[in-house]
Formats: sequence, structure tokens, C-alpha cells
Amino acid sequence: MESKILLILDLDETLIHATATKLGDDFAFQLYHYYVYKRPGLEAFLAICAEKFELAVWSSASDDYVKQVVEQIFPPEIKPVFVWGRSRCTPLLLPQIDEFGYYNLDGVSHYEYAKLLKKVRRLGYDVNRVLIVDDTPEKVRNCYGNAIYPTPFLGDPTDKELLILGQYLHALHGAENVRNIEKRQWQHRFLPGSTSE
Ligand SMILES: [Mg+2]
Repeated sequence: MESKILLILDLDETLIHATATKLGDDFAFQLYHYYVYKRPGLEAFLAICAEKFELAVWSSASDDYVKQVVEQIFPPEIKPVFVWGRSRCTPLLLPQIDEFGYYNLDGVSHYEYAKLLKKVRRLGYDVNRVLIVDDTPEKVRNCYGNAIYPTPFLGDPTDKELLILGQYLHALHGAENVRNIEKRQWQHRFLPGSTSE
């Protein structure tokens, strides 16, 4: 049997929302000066993912923050194969496009902490069998063929994204090459209950 696909999850606005401004009393925990809210359905989502995939976490937040969030939100029986923070990201200069669609070379430079899959490949993973879930396309623009973009979670307690994302990933987990699969607009393409399982 082929090995499981590696599923790399982002944290902020994908699995949690951390804010210095309290949104309500149902925050999951406090970290530094942040109130941290879990995205609804997080526990079930992680359980589904851990069953079907090899799991990893990669966030562009500080390494210490990432480690502490993972300790809080992952149950002890689910161990990500790696937990990476900003030190594993690569600052990349993003081109500034002006209102006419031209590159604006005089504009203020904007860096984004990018996640480059060559760092994952160095661990021995086949990049055709790696999925990366991130709410910020700029952070994964060098590996968009592997990317799934959830809508950003900003604390809405009625959010359903992880419920449908779990079902979508369940339908994808047997794919031989994830890069051949069109994943844009996945929320609209995927009809829950349409798989043969
Ligand atoms: Mg994010």
C-alpha cells in the first residue's frame, strides 16, 4: 500500500484565530496577550486528518507561538511529523502591481514569509503527495499545485469550513498525485456525500 499523503496545516485563520481583542468568553486558551479561538469542528477535523494522512504543521508565526498552540490544540494521541514556524519560512519579495497592472518598482517592498516545499522534499517526501492548507495564497504561491485555500477564520462561531474541508480531504486522500487535481474553488466543486464511500 502506498504511504499516506503528507498534509501540512497552517494555524492562524485556518485552524484558530488569535486576537488581542476579546471576542467573547468562549476562547479556548490565552497565549501571551492573545485570546485564542478554535475554529468550530477542530477536534473532529484533526481526528479525520490523522486517520487518513500523515500530519504536519507549518505556520509563519514565531516558532515558540507555533509550538505552544500545537500543544494546546492537538490531542496527545495525534503527533504531527513536524511543527515548523517562521524560522522554516523564507522571506520573499512580492511584486507590487499598480492599478494599471504594471509592476511598480518604486513601490514599498512587501515581504511575505513563504513556505517552500523544497524544505519538505529534503525530508524525503514526494511533493506529488503533499497537500498544504493555508488561508493566505501568498505564503504558498511557490507550491500552488499542492495548496488548498480555506476561507480565513476570524472567530465566527457558526463557521462550517472545517466540516466541509474534512469531507473534501477524505475524498482526496487516496490520490496518487495531488498536483493533477484542480483544487481551486474546492468548496463549490465538492458536494458532501457525493463520494462512493
Ligand atoms: Mg494563516
